[in-house]
Amino acid sequence: VKSQGRNGLCFFDPQMQVAISQRAQLENDLQVALSGRQFVLHYQPQWHLDGHMVGAEALIRWQHPQRGLVGPGNFIAVAEDSELIVPLGHWILRTACEQLARWQDAPATRHLQLSVNVSARQFRQRDFVARVVEVLRETGVRPHLLKLELTESLVLDDVADTIAKMEMLKTKGVRFSVDDFGTGYSSLAYLTRLPLDQLKIDQSFIHNIGVKHTDDVIVQTIIGMAQNLQLDVLAEGVETEAQKDFLALHGCHFYQGYLFARPMPAAQLEALLESVPAD
Ligand code: C2E
Ligand code: CA
Ligand code: CA
Ligand code: CA
Repeated sequence: VKSQGRNGLCFFDPQMQVAISQRAQLENDLQVALSGRQFVLHYQPQWHLDGHMVGAEALIRWQHPQRGLVGPGNFIAVAEDSELIVPLGHWILRTACEQLARWQDAPATRHLQLSVNVSARQFRQRDFVARVVEVLRETGVRPHLLKLELTESLVLDDVADTIAKMEMLKTKGVRFSVDDFGTGYSSLAYLTRLPLDQLKIDQSFIHNIGVKHTDDVIVQTIIGMAQNLQLDVLAEGVETEAQKDFLALHGCHFYQGYLFARPMPAAQLEALLESVPAD
C-alpha cells in the first residue's frame, strides 16, 4: 500500500517493504541455487490398479545449505513470477530426461514413464518445442516415455499456442497430461481439441471423497469424461484405502499418493521397484 506524503514523496508500508526485500532476496538465492547445483529432483511413483509401478512424477526440491531440504511450495511460485523459471524449468526437464535415459537402459526400469511439470512462462517461450526436442535428442530418451504435465489454466490461457506446441511435440511422440484437473474452467470443447493422453484429477477432490458428496460426483464425472474421450485418468493425492476403493469402483486405473509411496530419490525408487512386480 503506497501512500502519498505531504511533500509528494511516496512511502511504502514498512511491512510490505520487508516482504518485497525478502522476495528479492529469495529470487537472488534461487539464482545462486541454480548455478550452485542445489536443486534435486525426487520421484513419486505412479501405479496401475493391478499393482504395477508404471512411472513417476519428477518433483523439485531445494537442498539448501542451511535450511535442509526445502519443498517447492516455498519457492516455485517466486521462480514462476520471475524469468528464473525459464532456466530452472529447462534444468528440470534436462535432469528428468537424464534420469529417464538411465531408466530406459536398465531392464527393471525400462518401461517407466516420467511426468515432468511445465510452468506457463516456460511453455510460452518461443523456443519451448525446440528445447524439448533438443533435450530428447541429447539424452536419447524415447519420447513416448516422457509425459509433460500442463495445468488447466496454462492450457486455457492461449489455446491456439497451446495446441500448436502440443501438436508439434505430439508428432515426436511426447505425451501430455492435464494437471490439477477440475480446478479450472474445464470445458469439453477445449479438451477435445487438445492432443491429450491423460487427466490428473486434482488432489483436493480426492481428499474429499466420502466427505463431500459434490466432490464424489465431480470425481465420478471426471472419470466418465476421461473414458468417453479415451484418455487415461490418474488420481493424485490418494491417501486412504477408502479413496482408492471408491476410485477403482468408478473406473480409475492410475494412482499416485502417500498410500502407495511418497516422492523419493531415484535410487530409492529403484530399490522399491525390486520389491514390487515390474510393469
Ligand atoms: P503438483 O504438480 O500437483 O504435485 C503434487 C504434489 O502433491 C507434490 O507436492 C506431491 O509431493 C504431493 N503429494 C503427492 N501425493 C500426496 C498425497 O497423498 N497427499 C498429499 N497431501 N500430497 C501429496 P510437492 O512436491 O510439494 O509439489 C508441490 C507443487 O509444486 C506441485 O504440485 C507443482 O505445482 C509444483 N512443482 C513441484 N515440482 C515442480 C517442477 O519440477 N516444476 C514445476 N514447474 N513445478 C513443480
Ligand atoms: Ca504435477
Ligand atoms: Ca497436481
Ligand atoms: Ca499443483
